[in-house]
Amino acid sequence: MLIRETELFASASSPDRFPRDGAPQIAFMGRSNVGKSSLINRLLGTRGLARTSKTPGRTRAVHFFRVNRRVHFVDLPGYGYARVPRPMRQEWKGLVEAYLEGDPGPDLSILLVDARHPPTDLDQELWDWLAAAGRPARIVLTKIDKLSRGRWAAVTRAAAAAFRPEPAPPIPVSAVTGDGIPALWRILDPACERGRSAPPGTEPLVTPHPQGEGHHRERQRHRA
Ligand code: GDP
Repeated sequence: MLIRETELFASASSPDRFPRDGAPQIAFMGRSNVGKSSLINRLLGTRGLARTSKTPGRTRAVHFFRVNRRVHFVDLPGYGYARVPRPMRQEWKGLVEAYLEGDPGPDLSILLVDARHPPTDLDQELWDWLAAAGRPARIVLTKIDKLSRGRWAAVTRAAAAAFRPEPAPPIPVSAVTGDGIPALWRILDPACERGRSAPPGTEPLVTPHPQGEGHHRERQRHRA
């Protein structure tokens, strides 16, 4: 998708604030520090839209970044940070489940796993849940630049084998070098176009950029 405009459309700390505007939604989830903000920024060609290295344990919210006024990239709060107190973990669970189970919920879920580490129990739990709910989902391996290129194929196979049910091949990416970003866009593009009719006043989707990367003219409007 050629990125023309991105904006923080909503930051919802309770389910009643999730947007229900009929726009397709692509959700990004994974443990804290997995590289989620960096990846969203890389995909959208933005720098500060999704904030990187936030202090763990701060108030959690589901952020909806609207792209070209017609698709939401949904940034779910990270999980698995040891120092987060139990009540906050419950809060996380409540919010994330409400989003994933809600109507409309995500058209496509992207579960991020650090390429250098095996998936955690929480990653598997989330994957189980997505599979049981019949939600379309893919696994993305982040920070692949930290591994030598010769290991990418084996690491990708091992990651797939670590999940039950076994996923479609994970996509290795690097937010630093841009490796894998065009491949990921090939997964995201159909989800951006799928199904629902675009809300009134939205722009039609334009043809993919030849390199598949997000090119943007950033206009951030904060509405939350
Ligand atoms: P989040 O908590 O999942 O949003 O993770 P961030 O995007 O804040 O990234 C966590 C840390 O990993 C930061 O120090 C990033 O600079 C680093 N990081 C993120 N993506 C990559 C990547 O693709 N390659 C490398 N080498 N570092 C990355």
